[in-house]
Amino acid sequence: MSGVAVLGSTGSIGVSTLDVIARHPERFQVIALTANGNHRRLFEQLRRFAPRYAVMADPDAARILADAVRREGLATQVLAGPEALEQVVTLDEVEQVMAAIVGAAGLPPALAAARAGKRVLLANKEALVVAGDLFMRAVAEGGAELLPIDSEHNAIFQCMPAGFRAGRAARGVSGILLTASGGPFREWPLEALETVTPEQACAHPNWDMGRKISVDSATMMNKGLELIEACWLFATDVDHVQVVVHPQSVVHSLVQYTDGSVLAQLGNPDMRTPIAHAMAWPERIDSGVAPLDLFAIARLDFEAPDARRFPCLRLAAEAMRAGGTAPAVLNAANEIAVQAFLDRRLAFTAIPRLIERVLAAMPPRPVESLRQLLAVDSEARRQAERFITERV
Ligand code: NAD
Ligand code: MG
Repeated sequence: MSGVAVLGSTGSIGVSTLDVIARHPERFQVIALTANGNHRRLFEQLRRFAPRYAVMADPDAARILADAVRREGLATQVLAGPEALEQVVTLDEVEQVMAAIVGAAGLPPALAAARAGKRVLLANKEALVVAGDLFMRAVAEGGAELLPIDSEHNAIFQCMPAGFRAGRAARGVSGILLTASGGPFREWPLEALETVTPEQACAHPNWDMGRKISVDSATMMNKGLELIEACWLFATDVDHVQVVVHPQSVVHSLVQYTDGSVLAQLGNPDMRTPIAHAMAWPERIDSGVAPLDLFAIARLDFEAPDARRFPCLRLAAEAMRAGGTAPAVLNAANEIAVQAFLDRRLAFTAIPRLIERVLAAMPPRPVESLRQLLAVDSEARRQAERFITERV
C-alpha cells in the first residue's frame, strides 16, 4: 500500500489523481488532501477517501471545513495555512506526493517533499520555473524520486533510455521535441486577439484544465514554462529543446537520439495516463483512459510555432538563457498578468508586454536561496501590479 498526499486535490489534476486512486484501492491510500479555499469540494473528497489529514490554505475556509467534518463525524483532522502543507507532505506514512497546486504557491511544499525523499509527482511546473536549481538539488540530496506529470514531460520521460532518472543527462540523446497544441487562437487573425475574452481563452480545443494553465496555453506561455521545466528535468539547455506545434495533441512529445532514432509517446489527451504512469512507475496500471483509435484520428499535423503570435515563447527562452532569478520574475509577472486578464483588467495581448516590462525592470541576479527567490517573486508581482494600475 502506498500512502499518497494530494496537494491541490480540488483542481483539475487533483480530481484526475483521485479518479486513478479510486480505481486501485488495494494499491494506494490517501493520507492527506489539500486545497486553497474550495471547502465544499474538499469535504466531498473527505467523505469519499477518508484521509487522516485535510489542509486548507485559507484559514476561513479551514474553519468552515472543520465544522462540517465535526458535524458529519469524520475522523479527518483539518489543518490550516501554508505551513501545514509542508507538515503533511513530510509525514512518514506518505510515500508519494502529487504536487498539483497551481503557481509559485506550490513551490514550498513540493520542495519539502523533495527534501524529505518522497516520490514527487510534479504537475506544478511553476515550482521548477521559479527554483529549478534549488529544486533539482533538493531532489538529489533528499534522495527523492521525481516523476513528471506534465503530459509532455511524462512522455519524454517514457521515451528516455532505460534507467533514466530526472535531472541526469541521458546518454545518446541529441534533442527533445516538445509538442504544443497551439491553443484556441492558433488560426485566429492577429487583430482579433486584442479583444479575446477569458471565456474564449479558457476553451481549450483538446484539454480540460484549470483556468490559469488554460490562459497559459492560449498565450503559449505554458510551452515557455514547459521549455524551462524540460531543461531542468532532462539536464539540457534551451537550444536542445524544439517546440513543435501539433494541433491534435496525440503525440505528447518526442526524444531524438544520436543514431537518428526518434521515440514518441502517443495517447488520448487525458491526464490520467501520465498520473497513472507516474504513480505506479515502473509498473503499468489501468488509468481509465480509452484506448487510442488511430483510424478515428486519421492524421497528425506538425508545424513551427508563430513567433509573432506567441511572444511568450521567446520571453521564456530568453529568461532561461539569462538564468539566475529571471525565470522566477517571468513566472511571477505571468501569474499576475493572467489573473488580471481573467479579472478583465488587462487585454490578452498585453500579457506578454507586461511580462517583458517586468523582466526589463528586474535584471537577473544569481540564485542564493529559497527566501531570496520568494522575495524576488513578491517584488515582480508588485512591479506587475504597478504597471497594470498605471496602465502601461
Ligand atoms: P486548478 O486551478 O484546477 O487547481 C489548482 C489547485 O491548487 C486547487 O486544488 C486549488 O485549491 C489549489 N491551490 C490554488 N492556489 C493555492 C494556494 N495558494 N495554496 C494552496 N493551494 C492552492 O489547476 P490545474 O489545472 O489542476 O493545474 C495544477 C498544476 O498542474 C498547475 O501547475 C498546472 O500548470 C499543472 N498542469 C495541469 C494540467 C491540467 O491538465 N490541468 C496539465 C499539466 C500540468
Ligand atoms: Mg503540458
